[in-house]
Amino acid sequence: MSLINLKILFSVSISLIFLGCAKNSLVYEEIPVEMLYSCIDYDKVVDPNFDSDDLYAFWDIFVADAKCSMSSSPDYDKLNTDVNIFYEYESDALFASGEVLDYGAYAASSCNDSVVRVGIAFRYWNDINIWQKLGLMYHEFGHDVLKYGHSLNPDDIMHASSPFASSYNGFIESKNRFFEKKFDGLRYLDCSWYEDYSDGTNVPNHPSMLHDCNKDHN
Ligand SMILES: [Zn+2]
Repeated sequence: MSLINLKILFSVSISLIFLGCAKNSLVYEEIPVEMLYSCIDYDKVVDPNFDSDDLYAFWDIFVADAKCSMSSSPDYDKLNTDVNIFYEYESDALFASGEVLDYGAYAASSCNDSVVRVGIAFRYWNDINIWQKLGLMYHEFGHDVLKYGHSLNPDDIMHASSPFASSYNGFIESKNRFFEKKFDGLRYLDCSWYEDYSDGTNVPNHPSMLHDCNKDHN
């Protein structure tokens, strides 16, 4: 074999080695991540046309999800006739002092079965991704609609501090436990004080009325 032929053979061999490596890494990167099943199709929330500033869109998703995920198939849109979801902003004075709201959101009508009242800290809302937004909304509806208290597991939607899971699968795993009522330390809010007010129209400023939900500063 001539020297030239040897050189060609050598360079072809080197090329094959590189091709082999490139192919292997390509195959490795293409291993698909299994998308967990949900009875709700979340494609629309990752669509560029989805308006994540429309807080009522999250109520609609929650209602549809509860209906197909919970064994009792509740109609929360019919049960809750008065739904009010709104942003909260820093006061000028607070903002001027360099401070921001110290909560991510709150639920203000947990014990009234026909009213949903949820406040969302606008600045915080804009800092979190779509799966964390869904987790935060489900958390507040957990207080306001399902009367859930806080849990101790940071992976649960009902943990006292957000942000919650930042990925699709993380959100699906925690919201499945949430709807199946299978999460650590599940407990319900005490609404016995509220039931003393028979018509629900004259509710005092009871400390159990507001559920401020912390954001994690770490
Ligand atoms: Zn909370």
